[in-house]
Amino acid sequence: MIDINRKLGFPAKKVALVTFWVETFGCQMNKSRSEHLAYLLEEEGFFPAKGSEEADILVFNTCAVREHAAERAINIINKVAQERKDKNPHSIVVVCGCLGQLEKEKLLEKGKEIDVLAGTHNWEEIPLLIKKAWQGKVKIADFKEEPPPVFQEKGYWHSNPISAYLPITFGCDNFCSYCVVPYTTGRERSKPPEIIKEELTSLVGEGFREVTLLGQNVNSYGRDRGKERGFEELLLDIEKWLGGKKVWIRFLTSHPRDFREGIVEIVKSSSLLCPYFHLPLQAGSDKILQLMRRGYSREDYLNKISFIRQSIPEARIGTDIIVGFPGETESDFWETLEVVEEARFDVAYTYIYSPRPGTAAYLLEDDVPLEEKKRRLYILNDALRNIYQEKLPSLRGKIVEVLVDQKEGNLVSGKTANNLRVYLPEPSLEVGEWEEVILASGEGNKIYGSVRR
Ligand code: SAH
Ligand code: SF4
Repeated sequence: MIDINRKLGFPAKKVALVTFWVETFGCQMNKSRSEHLAYLLEEEGFFPAKGSEEADILVFNTCAVREHAAERAINIINKVAQERKDKNPHSIVVVCGCLGQLEKEKLLEKGKEIDVLAGTHNWEEIPLLIKKAWQGKVKIADFKEEPPPVFQEKGYWHSNPISAYLPITFGCDNFCSYCVVPYTTGRERSKPPEIIKEELTSLVGEGFREVTLLGQNVNSYGRDRGKERGFEELLLDIEKWLGGKKVWIRFLTSHPRDFREGIVEIVKSSSLLCPYFHLPLQAGSDKILQLMRRGYSREDYLNKISFIRQSIPEARIGTDIIVGFPGETESDFWETLEVVEEARFDVAYTYIYSPRPGTAAYLLEDDVPLEEKKRRLYILNDALRNIYQEKLPSLRGKIVEVLVDQKEGNLVSGKTANNLRVYLPEPSLEVGEWEEVILASGEGNKIYGSVRR
């Protein structure tokens, strides 16, 4: 994730460079946490490496959401760490984040190459732990059970020069029955608005073109500070702070239970807020939604989707869906497919249910066989792909604004405000430019366009 090109010109007095690399598993929230850690490491005098192969300090910021991912992470960590240490015996391997918090015993037992093991609540201490491990040539495991009371982070190292993440809440109070996040990240805390104002205005001042506000459930922003509609207040404040500026503001994730019409109305009348809504459905049957403790019904969900579609026809909607939750029958699964057909999602992340120790659903019998879970996932992905393909012809010929955010060789691409990635076969375009684009054709999952001149 570290782009060394943004960090040229090391001060001459730094002779011996100690370099770091942060490898991230999991969601955007975790990517942002890695950016925070990179900032802390740099503050401490370490330098970003060009790649994991060269780093003196190799950090793995882990994810614990699914068991398979957790097992895979441990294997990757051991393999990469071993290779690193064979080349440079002085290198330090750090494991932190959700898996560290949740599975310390397993990591201590299986992660033989780990020098520093930390969790989710002692982020700011990691640079110091690294120094201690290095100087004392000892292994260190250090955790805090509780997060700091106020959610405030010292700063972020931005891996993309024009697009930044800005966490506005941390933790989660929802305790969906399948999910470990509340256990690994603690109770939900909202960043004070004055800090968000400072961070956001300075990002825009530095030239960032796009900022994504992050939280496990951004819609409940401010609830811990006594505000029922704190998120709407925040969006309106953002309008005031940035009024007149050309910048795109996105937000992720919206828990459907807390998603309110007021949010759609604010987005509709704003030139800053992007009309993309990520509303994880998880399941389409009321029985399963209840077992998941999601707090909404299929009908509530679909009403919210139709409100968005009616209010902002160009809005795009994304979702997350789990198949094979305990007790999910064939007909429950077909209800999920029905909701998918009705909601006509534009983006979807789909998962096979994975029992996580410590969660409420872990006590339920994991009664859908793996082969059946895989079959359902296949059918679901097929349905989603068909919807996507059916939508492609209606995009052709549309004129949209695209923010160019990726350039690798001749391959240039960018996103529309409503979060559609468009490939532009025009190598002269620069990252950070907004272009008026005519959408042309779709090939597989890729949409191509050309700049309107
Ligand atoms: N806060 C977000 C999601 C965070 S986790 C929200 O509530 O929408 C990202 C996704 O991982 C979830 O939306 C869910 O679809 C999936 N997920 C979480 N726990 C899971 C589990 N035990 N098994 C399978 N998928 C899971
Ligand atoms: Fe997990 Fe539910 Fe919280 Fe999302 S809202 S992080 S799925 S507990």
